[in-house]
Amino acid sequence: MSTSHTSSSSAHASDEHCIFCKIVAGTIPSKKVYEDEDLLAFHDINPWAPIHFLIIPKTHIASMAQLTLSHEALMGKIMVKAGELALQEGAVPYPEGGFRTVVNTGRHGGQEVHHLHVHVLAGERPWQKI
Ligand code: AMP
Ligand code: ZN
Repeated sequence: MSTSHTSSSSAHASDEHCIFCKIVAGTIPSKKVYEDEDLLAFHDINPWAPIHFLIIPKTHIASMAQLTLSHEALMGKIMVKAGELALQEGAVPYPEGGFRTVVNTGRHGGQEVHHLHVHVLAGERPWQKI
């Protein structure tokens, strides 16, 4: 595991070995859904549903297990953006449509990429994963 440090190219803490930090830095391409000073949303490379994108904080946070109350506003913003961006990406509005949010944490939680991300899934079922 590498240690986090502040990248010289931005104000956000980043991990040089983290694939999602590389997406934030633009050194790995992504299909962008939304970006602001705190967050980046991009399409999942291996979608489980007709609409499947990830919302990540630009700063490197390994997982939900690292969250503290200092992240309250950041995480609140991610949850608010989830619904807004789902509609933008074509989700049918609640309650007929809606969307699913998933956060995997640690090995038992099924987490593969260790940069906190919220999966947002929507669209007509069936989906590849429940
Ligand atoms: P998790 O199991 O919650 O850690 O999910 C990681 C997700 O990241 C998976 O759904 C992958 O398909 C997705 N993923 C991995 N690499 C990329 C990438 N370069 N661009 C977009 N999504 C990715
Ligand atoms: Zn990262």
